[in-house]
Amino acid sequence: MTRTAYVNGQYMPLGVASVRIEDRGLQFADAAYEVCEIKAGRIIDERRHMERLGRSLDALQIPMPMSQAALGAIMREVVRRNRVRDGIVYLQVSRGVAARNHAFPRAPVRPGIVVTARRSDTIEMTRRADQGVTVITLPDNRWERVDIKTVGLLPNVLAKQKAVDAGAFEAWLIDKGGFVTEGSATNAWIVQKDGTLVTRPADRGILRGITRGTLFEVVAGEGLRIEERPFTVAEAKTASEAFLTGSSLSIMPVVEIDGHAIGRRQPGPITARLRAVFHDYAEIGPVWSSLVP
Ligand code: PLP
Repeated sequence: MTRTAYVNGQYMPLGVASVRIEDRGLQFADAAYEVCEIKAGRIIDERRHMERLGRSLDALQIPMPMSQAALGAIMREVVRRNRVRDGIVYLQVSRGVAARNHAFPRAPVRPGIVVTARRSDTIEMTRRADQGVTVITLPDNRWERVDIKTVGLLPNVLAKQKAVDAGAFEAWLIDKGGFVTEGSATNAWIVQKDGTLVTRPADRGILRGITRGTLFEVVAGEGLRIEERPFTVAEAKTASEAFLTGSSLSIMPVVEIDGHAIGRRQPGPITARLRAVFHDYAEIGPVWSSLVP
């Protein structure tokens, strides 16, 4: 099946879809993005993703290119055309095309929009969730505004590659005080022996993950408790459970940090429970096709 992308007003075969070489997203990473989960043909937590996109664009002083509803309609159409039942939809908004100067273009330019969608390997994802994944730790060498979801992800890319080279799934980034900030593409959590969940406050040190936000509701609904505070690598290594959250993987148990086993090197019961009920609490969008049961 030929995959389809949406680029600046047109649906095109992915293999030939392209942006202009002076798109500022390409030359300066001057763009924000969102990735939403697709489950059973429906976009998960679209409203929250759109609100965060609005905050990212505001911070970058890029105008919202169209209404949230119109962007949502394009995302659904891309999901439909790619026949994605379970996977992700990617939405990127750049400042647009202008002669290459660092400062913003003087005359207003139209923001650039790119939307793609792809299926995920749900069997592989379930296998990983059943076994748990491993993480390594690395210094967090990113800029100070990682709360803005920009496409400037090179430090994250290099960290993730170091994890892959080390045979691990994710890299947890560590601030100068020795505290875990987040993963290269996920938020980081631990579970204390008394069952309390711990995650870093969503100040400017981390991205305010949408999965993280929804998990607060899950935790309340399941009668559990969260402490929002930084935690060290040493504390994580002695936690009874640890896990990652992100839209492309929901909740993923961590069973090893820097080669050190977490609990019994198996996904813990609280993490497994949260993963099992997560979608009962998330906002589920309309289905894209009658072909999806
Ligand atoms: N932290 C970083 C650095 C990310 O890139 C992501 C997702 O891409 C997350 C956390 C998780 O955010 P969300 O749950 O919104 O996918």
